[in-house]
Amino acid sequence: MDIVLSGIRPTGNLHLGNYYGAVKSFVKLQDEFNCYFFIADWHSLTTHPKPEDIRRSARTILAEYLACGLDPKKSTIYIQSDVPETIELYLYLNMNAYLGELERVTSFKEKARKQPDNVNAGLLTYPTLMAADILIHRSTKVPVGKDQEQNMEMARLYANRFNNKYGVDYFPIPQSFSLAGRGIKIPGLDGSGKMGKSEGNCIYLYDDPAVIRKKVMRAVTDAGPQAPNSEKPEVIQNLFTLLGAVSSKETYDYFDEKWNDMSIRYGDLKKQLAQDIIDTLTPIRERIAEYSANTELLDRIALEGAEKARVSAAKTLRDVREIIGFRV
Ligand code: ATP
Ligand code: MG
Repeated sequence: MDIVLSGIRPTGNLHLGNYYGAVKSFVKLQDEFNCYFFIADWHSLTTHPKPEDIRRSARTILAEYLACGLDPKKSTIYIQSDVPETIELYLYLNMNAYLGELERVTSFKEKARKQPDNVNAGLLTYPTLMAADILIHRSTKVPVGKDQEQNMEMARLYANRFNNKYGVDYFPIPQSFSLAGRGIKIPGLDGSGKMGKSEGNCIYLYDDPAVIRKKVMRAVTDAGPQAPNSEKPEVIQNLFTLLGAVSSKETYDYFDEKWNDMSIRYGDLKKQLAQDIIDTLTPIRERIAEYSANTELLDRIALEGAEKARVSAAKTLRDVREIIGFRV
């Protein structure tokens, strides 16, 4: 069976875009594949966060993913730093990773430009750590967006290089697993193409109803349709895309007809959209609150996840040590 692995950066909170674009699909993948979901806290060290922030952000993201429906009974959910086997594999991969190729990675060049005083070796070897994350479970499918495509190329390079170097067929070559056909791209409400943390235009899963209403009512619109059955300009299409995600087909069709016969009132549409977002997010928000209030439970789930992950990781490492020539 395919082994699916996804790393989650513990930065910030989940928003509607993350949910419809990724997490909702992850929840379904759990029934189809052997899934590993891990919180990439080692990766976050490149920017030197404070110890208390590291602990808190891992718990925050864990609570939110569980609230969305990631299920520790179906999947292996763990925190990267709880599985030290990864680091040993990282060392082996680094021995066959070359400065020139690492320096050419676009995300490294970008980060080096943005933080010229902190171009550390961890930043440079981000692709080998990511390769170790993937290969430690001999994962075959990795759901990633376009921005991770180059890192996936590197993971394939290191898997192939290991296999060739030792004349083995040990690591499966991990494939990028596009969620494009499964997820929905969620637009921003400010007229920008995409909802995103960097864009600062997010509806967060933990937002309470008043906040959601305020954000939706502020959404950018236009002067209204200029002719019957006309094409929707982007800002209006954005609202309909959101309706398509959270509302019933009847609701969507109702406003679509109103657009087509030019009787649409954006205030009504926004009110309905806000309500449907609230109805969608309320159970998730309540579960986030429950998990967040129970750090003992969160820590236990993380620990049990790590135990499961370490069984798979230790097996890989035993094989790798044997292949390389170390005592096992
Ligand atoms: P950043 O601004 O820091 O890049 P982000 O809000 O774009 O953050 P990511 O952490 O980059 O979020 O994305 C996590 C996952 O959520 C990815 O799989 C990404 O494709 C998906 N995702 C993020 N924003 C959206 C969106 N607006 N619509 C659909 N999917 C999204
Ligand atoms: Mg992004």
